[in-house]
Amino acid sequence: MLCKSLCDLYENDISRSEKNMSFFIEILNYFKKKSNIEFSIRTYKDFQENINIRKGLHEILNNYDLFAKLLNPIDNILHIRIKCPVCNEYDKSSKSLQIIKDQNGNYMLKSFCNKHGDYSVNLNDKNDYVDVNTQLRDLLKGYIINRNQNVLTIMMDGSDWGGTWSNRIHCEGLLHLGEQELPLRIFTPMILDWSGAKFSKSLYMKNKDYENINNAFNDYTEFKRKYSDAGMNLLWSIACDWVGDPKKFYRNYTIEYFNILFESLEGMNE
Ligand SMILES: [Zn+2]
Repeated sequence: MLCKSLCDLYENDISRSEKNMSFFIEILNYFKKKSNIEFSIRTYKDFQENINIRKGLHEILNNYDLFAKLLNPIDNILHIRIKCPVCNEYDKSSKSLQIIKDQNGNYMLKSFCNKHGDYSVNLNDKNDYVDVNTQLRDLLKGYIINRNQNVLTIMMDGSDWGGTWSNRIHCEGLLHLGEQELPLRIFTPMILDWSGAKFSKSLYMKNKDYENINNAFNDYTEFKRKYSDAGMNLLWSIACDWVGDPKKFYRNYTIEYFNILFESLEGMNE
């Protein structure tokens, strides 16, 4: 399947990623004000060009078969993607990717665009963009955290990243990379739909299953219109309550539960 990153999809000279990030920045600024904690954002572009990410990827490629089987047992392929320098399209399945090791042990990645022919990147060159799938990203995050001991780094993810995924992909992967330690990792509550499935942005994007729920929980702009700052303040107090009483933090919550909590704000901006 041919894909393009959100940062390469433009509407009126603004990339889709810039447009989406503006909402996240607004929310992060709100939390900064509430908590008095500064934030900075590192993009995926910063992540993939990090020298330790490239080093970790090099080590993974040195043991391709083992990691391919661990991370992608369905097709035994490591999903590493490079994009055409002309149209920015890439092959999501990575099936067309060729990995060539030269006599000095360095890796060159080659692929093919139907419109623009062969292209290649050098794994050692941080100016060459290299994308990897979720499994590799998760493993490589742990790898760079272990190489950045000067600050306390915590990986924080939804609890769908816990359990088997964390054990197999993250912990087992790090062991195979020869790591002696595991990064500090915290899993947050997950928001569930009526069926107990994760309230999923991909399902929302397909616009299928969430037609009957409170639209403020589907769409941030609608959330702000309906509940304004009072809604954000309520979310903040709910999250503080979870953190203050950890048994509430290590639990999941349904979207119906939020409907009940938000009843007190219903009709405020109608
Ligand atoms: Zn192309």
